[in-house]
Amino acid sequence: MLLPSYLGGRWVAGEGSGTALNDPCTGLEIARVSADGLDFGAALTYARDVGGPALRDMSFAARGRLLGAIASRLGAARDVWYRSALSNSGSTRADAAMDIEGAVQTLRYYAALGEKLGESKFMVEAGGDQLTRDPGFQSVHFWTPVNGAAIHINAFNFPAWGMWGKAAVALLSGVPVVTKPAVSTSLLAWEMLRDVTGILPAGAVSLLMGSGQGLLAAVGREDVVAFTGSAQTARSLRSQDRIQDQNPRFNVEADSLNASILGPDIGVDSALFKVFVDEMSREILLKAGQKCTTARRLLVPRPVADSLVQAIKAKLEAAVMGNPRRADVTLGPVVTKQQQRAVQESIDKLCTVARIVHRGDATPVDADSDVSSFVPAHLLHCDAADAGVVHELEAFGPCSTILPYDRGDDAISLARLGGGSLVCSMFTNDAALTVKAAQALGSLHGRVMLVDDSIAKSHTDHSIVMPQSLHGGPGRAGGGEELGGSRGMRLYHQRTALQSSVATIAAVRSSALEYSL
Ligand code: NAP
Repeated sequence: MLLPSYLGGRWVAGEGSGTALNDPCTGLEIARVSADGLDFGAALTYARDVGGPALRDMSFAARGRLLGAIASRLGAARDVWYRSALSNSGSTRADAAMDIEGAVQTLRYYAALGEKLGESKFMVEAGGDQLTRDPGFQSVHFWTPVNGAAIHINAFNFPAWGMWGKAAVALLSGVPVVTKPAVSTSLLAWEMLRDVTGILPAGAVSLLMGSGQGLLAAVGREDVVAFTGSAQTARSLRSQDRIQDQNPRFNVEADSLNASILGPDIGVDSALFKVFVDEMSREILLKAGQKCTTARRLLVPRPVADSLVQAIKAKLEAAVMGNPRRADVTLGPVVTKQQQRAVQESIDKLCTVARIVHRGDATPVDADSDVSSFVPAHLLHCDAADAGVVHELEAFGPCSTILPYDRGDDAISLARLGGGSLVCSMFTNDAALTVKAAQALGSLHGRVMLVDDSIAKSHTDHSIVMPQSLHGGPGRAGGGEELGGSRGMRLYHQRTALQSSVATIAAVRSSALEYSL
């Protein structure tokens, strides 16, 4: 079955036999996609000309209600989505929950934010400045949504959350979306959009199934490109002539060598030691490590390093790798044979400086190794002074590396060697160290999570992205910013200085929401 794209307000199939989507556990083909012959220019024009005005004509509250309706619809058909995630991504129930529940919760969060922002359609900042001696001539700043389309290009690991997390923020801002899921796992995105087209205003969301080659050749000056994927693809997209020429907003969420630090004050008997062991084992197993936020580098005090290795090893040894249809399976396959090869190659490169302290059984339960794409769980240990590659190469699978350190300051310096990451977490009860860590880690991280005993049980895991908090990171991680409550809406709005009479400014202010993004 060739899955059509939803462009220009209708379902339209690409030409040719297309590319296969497979079940990564059975190797069986599920469907095919093709974008050959599709008119990307016309699709973007339709989004800008039909979807844009319709959304901009709605208040924040009305856009929020639209997001709420999408969330309800998706929430009501959960079983279908879990089945798709199982067959096309090889997701266990827990893996799929992160993607699917993450999508629904994020939509709900932005639906509630829309209600809170109320009946206005644009924003004006509080306060203002007198510009000359005349107090009647003043300046304020206001925010309006861009009149282009939001082009969302997503990675394979979160077909649901990736699509709806980005779309929620753009739609609440009043900007129509043209979304392109990664081909290999695009079934879930397709099924979800098919279910909600009836409640979307025409042109509000379009879906491109298949290769995005040529999509950015149709980008316009007021469009917004939000890309999630590898740094390599980001580099090649950013350097396209059309991007250089039109200079659209371009948000990148790319690779990340996230670190998690066990504080120097934490001994093997501390409650936080156990929390760290549990959480870091989950980091490796959940979604087979295919999370952009996975803790790849575990920085631990040298005196407890061996105990920690043994404790995480014990957890990983208890894991069951195999067919995600089985309830006892805790490690599913990576999404394709190609990814399986790429992850193994990356692990081999890491092993030029690190040694393997745990490698799970390579034979999957209830699956055929020849056709499936499993990668056993790996725990590496690296004590080399020149561990460069550990701080530079993301093995996008079930693999983390333990790096022992001597002093708290060393741990912070090691974390910074990631060169810009989405998240760094630290587990410590040393209050002075947490303040130092927040300051020292901030400039190279989009999110810092500092866990002490008081939140040992209540915090969200290292890799969980909450819509209230920013997602994105500087440097290697791409330099992007998404979510973060209303902060994510900045990408889809232009801030403009208004210089005018007090009366005119008052008139503008009376029709806008007093707010700043
Ligand atoms: P990828 O190979 O870079 O692909 C990402 C997306 O770009 C896919 O949808 C891909 O489509 C599309 N693409 C490739 N070339 C294109 C072109 N010329 N024009 C338009 N679109 C194009 O990355 P991936 O393998 O899907 O994802 C894994 C990577 O994503 C990892 O490195 C991971 O760290 C990163 N990631 C980062 C975050 C974050 O938030 N920072 C989140 C998730 C994943 P096709 O499928 O058609 O090739």
